Amino acid sequence: VIPAPFAYERPDSLDEALRALAGGDGTTRVIAGGQSLLPLMKLRLARPDRLVDIGRFDELRGVRELAGGGLAIGALTTWAELLDDPRVMAWGALADAIPTIGDVQVRNRGTIGGSVAHADPASDIAAPLLALAAELTVRSVHGERRVPIGEVYAGPFMTTLAPGELITEVRLPAPDARLGSAYVALPHPASGYPVAGVAAVVVRGSRGGPPERCAAAVTGVAETPFRALAVEEALLAGRSLAEAAALAATGVRALSDPYADREYRTAMAAVMAERALRAAMDRAA
Ligand SMILES: Cc1cc2nc3c(=O)[nH]c(=O)nc-3n(C[C@H](O)[C@H](O)[C@H](O)COP(=O)(O)OP(=O)(O)OC[C@H]3O[C@@H](n4cnc5c(N)ncnc54)[C@H](O)[C@@H]3O)c2cc1C
Repeated sequence: VIPAPFAYERPDSLDEALRALAGGDGTTRVIAGGQSLLPLMKLRLARPDRLVDIGRFDELRGVRELAGGGLAIGALTTWAELLDDPRVMAWGALADAIPTIGDVQVRNRGTIGGSVAHADPASDIAAPLLALAAELTVRSVHGERRVPIGEVYAGPFMTTLAPGELITEVRLPAPDARLGSAYVALPHPASGYPVAGVAAVVVRGSRGGPPERCAAAVTGVAETPFRALAVEEALLAGRSLAEAAALAATGVRALSDPYADREYRTAMAAVMAERALRAAMDRAA
């Protein structure tokens, strides 16, 4: 439980941090709240030679409103800060997911950017971000780019971000008053991480008809969190909530472990999907 030796740098500015990361030889890692990285280092599952600490950059902290009505959440914004922000909590799926993440200590230190970059297959926040079609702003010494969240998760604990790229913000779309969203998860009794978690976003259609818009995303079930496109297509085609929800793990090979085998996880994905869809539907105007 003691990390291997490493060098530690605390740059004074974001530009300096980006230069330090660009100069890294592949064994340099950025550290934000340290909630995921430090446990890995203590277990020696991660052995960076150098840590670049970005944890004190105020410009990466906090929530600001975008011109078009969306929100830009600074990468260093903690779960606790998000819980205190009514503009973020107005999204039902985020208000459902964030209080379930870790415990008070984790929520006080852990950041949204760190969680996305860590790419845990059972990240709670991944499902709402996928269903809401969030975007990342990513910066490196070569400039800035926007990345749809759906293009970020590459595998277990892997993202498509290039070495030297930092997540600077997570962007949420402009709120739509007609839209309802929800996140429902079955937590693992020991870790609290979702065994299966589903976020749903719905805009109702005409009375009794299929929804005008819907999105569903699943976490905890496969090697990466994913959009449940089969669920969305079935709902838009007029199938019932239960029929659509049953397709939640379509096209993925569900994970299997001693607590939850493949069949159980697949079944729980469907149960969570139905509950999330119903809750989102209830919340939709
Ligand atoms: C006891 C415990 C319980 C937890 N329970 C849950 C849970 O129930 N559900 C859940 O979803 N999560 C859970 N977590 C995970 C927690 O939410 C994350 O550890 C935390 O949000 C990560 O943010 P951080 O700032 O601490 O990241 P760090 O640990 O500092 O970094 C994590 C990774 O992201 C990289 N990184 C950090 N910031 C950036 C950035 N801005 N740009 C690019 N790369 C970056 C780092 O190099 C590192 O690889 C738990 C963690 C703990 C310790």
